[in-house]
Formats: sequence, C-alpha cells, structure tokens
Amino acid sequence: MRRIALLIAAASTILALPVAGLAKGPAMPSEAEQQEAVARVAALGVPIYEAGTQGKYVAITMDDGPGPYTGKVMDEFKKYGFRPTFFVNGKNFARWSDTLRRESREGAVGDHTWSHPYLPGIPASRQISEVSRSMTASSNITGDRVQLFRPPYGSTTLPLNSWLKDKGVLNVLWSTDSRDSLGANREEILRISKAGVKPGAIILMHENRGQTYWALNRLLPWIKKQGYTVVTVPELIALNPPDLAAVKRRAGSGVGFR
Ligand SMILES: [Zn+2]
Repeated sequence: MRRIALLIAAASTILALPVAGLAKGPAMPSEAEQQEAVARVAALGVPIYEAGTQGKYVAITMDDGPGPYTGKVMDEFKKYGFRPTFFVNGKNFARWSDTLRRESREGAVGDHTWSHPYLPGIPASRQISEVSRSMTASSNITGDRVQLFRPPYGSTTLPLNSWLKDKGVLNVLWSTDSRDSLGANREEILRISKAGVKPGAIILMHENRGQTYWALNRLLPWIKKQGYTVVTVPELIALNPPDLAAVKRRAGSGVGFR
C-alpha cells in the first residue's frame, strides 16, 4: 500500500515538471481572452489598421473566399503552424460550406458582406442587411459567432460602423495592402508583403488568385525565418493590443470613411 502511494507521488512529481524544452514562445491566448480583447477594441466603433507594436506576431488576412484556392492556402499556412484570417462573402457559402468550416477550425473567420458591394454606394438599410445576412449564414454553418468584419474596398460608412459597434463586431482594415487585387504581379506582391512585416501588422491578400498563392508560398517560409509567427487577428489583438487612443485619433482623421 505504502509503496503504491510512493509510486503515485513520484508519478505526479514527474507530471508536474515543466516541459521547458518544448515551450515555443508564450502560450496563445484562450478563446475567451481573444473574444474579450476584440470586444474591447470593437467598443470604440471605429476600424483598426494594425495591432500593438510589441512581439513578432503578424496577421495575414485572405479576402473574398471561400473558393477554389482556399484549401491550398490553408495547407500552406498549416505547414508552418501559422493561422490565417479569412474575410468571407456569404454568396460563396452554399458551394463551399465544408471549406468555410475548415477555415473556422484552422484560422479565424470574419465577415466581408454577402455580395461584395461598394457600401457607401447603397442605402444604410442594405449595407446592414448585406452584413447581417452573411454573418448569420456563416454562424449557422460554422457554429461560431462572427466578431470581425472587413468592408469591401476598405470603404465603410458611419451608420454601418455604429451598427457594428452595437453588435460588438470589430472592423478590421490593414497596415499593408499586398496589391494583389490591384494588378501587382507575383514578385511585387511578395516584395510588398515582406516589406509590411512588422510587429502587429495586418496584411491584406486575396485567397482566390494564382499569383497570390505563388507569393504566399515564398512569403510564409521567409516570415518564419525572420522569427515571426502568423496568428489570427483575434490572437494578434489579445497578444499585442492596439493603443486605443491612437485608434480613436486615426479614426477621427476620417481615413477609412466615405
Ligand atoms: Zn474583398
């Protein structure tokens, strides 16, 4: 009996030892910590362009899917233990619902409207229905609440921003546009994206483009070599929160509103 007790004591000592050799940087924030961190910034009711300036973490955001390249893109991120963020359009969900579920499991999913309209060009009621229809459909498919939003063409409006604030949804713009949707060739996409890598960066790319996929294949190993980790936007904000006063100041300058 005594011997068994000693064995149990010895076993629990071993289990309690820290696995220092296996630790790779700080542990990722929990789901609850991420949600809280995003909610704190969303409460300001204005867009963000980047997170804080500490730590070698960046977010890569892939817009306009899900679609035919999404699986390949996710395989690339997975190779390096990186997690992308997807801003998705509801019109694609019927065809790519399994892909949307995988995006939600392996990264973060944010909304990008149902049909990708230029929001300042349509009435406020339609701006809101474009977003709420797509957000509801996404939640029904993935089972996850949508807490992030990105407006098509980066063009948001004041009525929509106040609706997003009420819903606790954070409007996420970017610190670097890879220009993959603006005609940049694959070498330019790679060069611009590399130049944008800095603590707290949010890089804009589009997942359903061959030239982006080519650039991404080269960008991800390069990022790893620089000692950076690609995390989702909620992870980035929880690890490295933006300066709220700076976020408000920048929004006050009118950038991002039309
Ligand atoms: Zn888009």
